[in-house]
Amino acid sequence: MSTTAVAIGTMKVAQVSKPGAAFQIVEREIPDPGAGQVRIKVQACGICHSDVLTKEGLIPGIQYPRIPGHEVAGVIDELGAGVAVWKKGQRVGVGWHGGHDNTCRQCRRGDFNHCENMKIPGIHYDGGYQEYMLAPVDALAAIPDTLSDTEAAPLLCAGVTTYNSLRHSGALPGDLVAVQGIGGLGHLGVQFASKFGYRVAAIGRGPENAVLAKKLGAALYIDSHATNAAQELRRLGGARVILATAPNSKAMSELIDGLGPNGKLLVVGASSDPIEVTPIQLITPLVRSLHGWASGIPTDSEDTLNFAELTGIRPMIETYPLEKADEAYARMMSGKAQFRVVLTM
Ligand SMILES: [Zn+2]
Ligand SMILES: [Zn+2]
Repeated sequence: MSTTAVAIGTMKVAQVSKPGAAFQIVEREIPDPGAGQVRIKVQACGICHSDVLTKEGLIPGIQYPRIPGHEVAGVIDELGAGVAVWKKGQRVGVGWHGGHDNTCRQCRRGDFNHCENMKIPGIHYDGGYQEYMLAPVDALAAIPDTLSDTEAAPLLCAGVTTYNSLRHSGALPGDLVAVQGIGGLGHLGVQFASKFGYRVAAIGRGPENAVLAKKLGAALYIDSHATNAAQELRRLGGARVILATAPNSKAMSELIDGLGPNGKLLVVGASSDPIEVTPIQLITPLVRSLHGWASGIPTDSEDTLNFAELTGIRPMIETYPLEKADEAYARMMSGKAQFRVVLTM
């Protein structure tokens, strides 16, 4: 008889074998959690645009084959050595923040979001496009009972990014807050901004999402094709915050003049093109700023999930089975999904 651990079986995973390759559905052995880890029986995993980093190999040093996915919702089904707080059967999520080292300079300051050795699921270790996933305990967020797995998953990246950036933005209830882009991030940004008590101006290109934006809580909708959105915001007194969600640097640049006094362009939509702004625009006659924001730590994710439960905020999703990861990913990349694509296991 062998004394080594016996694998309890195999599982299906959707992996990328090399940069640019299509997803492969393969069988792997179900892994055992190491010390400080749990094994999660994955129920749902959102497909985020940032999964392109793994799919196309845009970050150096990714080891292939790699399984993407950092919007993971599931149930703990096994505990590794030394795991005391979390329990088998507990519903948990894993987002972009996949663990920190607790020892670097930033962690010693308590700034885990800037850990110099932060791990990202799906990049530094296998993520959620699989039936079972290992995760360190410092990546876990508890999921409240009333949120389904498919609803919780997108809140663990798109949700926490918009919720956490807005709640730290300095905008106060009643302030004019614009949300640029009604998409995967923006449709959540509008909901959070509305529930925070802001006067929300949703900005889209074309009239298509006007009705939806108002349904999600926007007080007004600005069609940036039909009107000069910056001028419109200034006419309304100037935005305290513009949450820039659509990864379109030109569209972001065009909005800067719509900021009011001490207004902030809060950038969460990731694009590699430059935002254009003159120093004068940031200095006179009004002082304004550009500000980036990325996600949050697992307790921020928990706050996001709890706030969504409290207020009824939900992502709009399209679901695909894990086996159709390729089709689901293509749907996300097409920009036509309404609005987040979620894999189910
Ligand atoms: Zn993401
Ligand atoms: Zn650290």
